[in-house]
Amino acid sequence: MITKGKVYLIDVTNRDGVQTSRILLPKLSKTLLNLYLDEMGVYQSEIGFPTLKHEVNYINANLELVELGAFKRIHLEGWARAIPEDVELAFKNCPKIKHLNLSVSTSEIMIQGKFQGRKTWDDIVKGMYNAVKLAKELGAETVGFNAEDASRTELSRLIEFILAGKEAGGDRFRYCDTLGCEDPITIYERIHTLALATRFPIEMHCHNDLGMAEAVSVAGAQGTIEAGVDSYINTTVNGYGERAGNADLVSTILALKFSHGLKEKCPLDEHVNLKMAWKIAKYASYAFNIPIPINQPGVGANAFAHESGIHADGVLKDRANYELYSPEDVGRGEPELLETGRIITTGEYGGIKGFRYVYSKLGIEFHDDNEARNILELVQYANLHTQKPLTDDELKFIATYPDIVRQILTVTP
Ligand SMILES: [Zn+2]
Repeated sequence: MITKGKVYLIDVTNRDGVQTSRILLPKLSKTLLNLYLDEMGVYQSEIGFPTLKHEVNYINANLELVELGAFKRIHLEGWARAIPEDVELAFKNCPKIKHLNLSVSTSEIMIQGKFQGRKTWDDIVKGMYNAVKLAKELGAETVGFNAEDASRTELSRLIEFILAGKEAGGDRFRYCDTLGCEDPITIYERIHTLALATRFPIEMHCHNDLGMAEAVSVAGAQGTIEAGVDSYINTTVNGYGERAGNADLVSTILALKFSHGLKEKCPLDEHVNLKMAWKIAKYASYAFNIPIPINQPGVGANAFAHESGIHADGVLKDRANYELYSPEDVGRGEPELLETGRIITTGEYGGIKGFRYVYSKLGIEFHDDNEARNILELVQYANLHTQKPLTDDELKFIATYPDIVRQILTVTP
């Protein structure tokens, strides 16, 4: 009998989201996002690039947070190219890294266009095999191996690629719809074939160039689940990602939980807490400095707004007339208090009195002046680093993990 698989979420905001043109995220905000994703029950966060110098302190600090018990369950995973040199460098820079995803192009168009005769198909498979094997030897607990441009790669080649990665000790295969060219029916059939042929967990990594990132992600997941193996969907918060973006985290969860066809067929990891949607979407919007569109599923300003006569009347009688899910399901409904009178803040140019006042309102007192001055200095630097008012959670995090924050803020060119 085939045992049914489950759908797990791997959020790639801190890798695909941040590498996107013209949008930026400070390392402190990346850390807060990792913490929120953990609180939300997301299985894994792709936290960044362990081979990139300016990421190293931030990544090591987050791995330290794992040891300190700041994370409940989430895997913190680094992205690197599927070549032994990158794997070696990743472990040299971040010796405590336990989870990696290793990527290489697999389509003929990219092999020809990018490597221009320097690599054949056999080199690609062999390089990935060696990289996965080395990562395991160097201490990785889980390794995903990514086929970049999988959508434009023949299935026979992908099967060969998956079986090689499986033999090397890999744990998941990432199917990258790098150009966003898939449609739900085609991807369902392709993924179902791959899952049946290999009996191996598949990650869906889909881009939104045709406006179907979530649709193709859940269709692919269904193809995996129906073959009896686990599926992993790559998401980003608010869909931030290369070009038109990636599959949006909240929309993907909503599709799995509330669409008529999928809620029975694709069981979602039971740790996922949709009530965190509002908090994480608002924070990402603030930290990235990008407003949430008014019509964004679940978290847009109009997601539960009704005005036209028939709709307003219907929803007032019974919200189920015009709402598929309720504001409470996505963590909305609480009024947000906005101070309209006198306000004291702390930050880049703050002094000790204002600083102590702000923290006392958060319920945090300091043992002595020395400790307070030490945290104040970090708050000044953190604010210099984020260039926008620090949130309550950021202030609490700085006071709770001062040494970790110092490491995150240290970037030496
Ligand atoms: Zn991508």
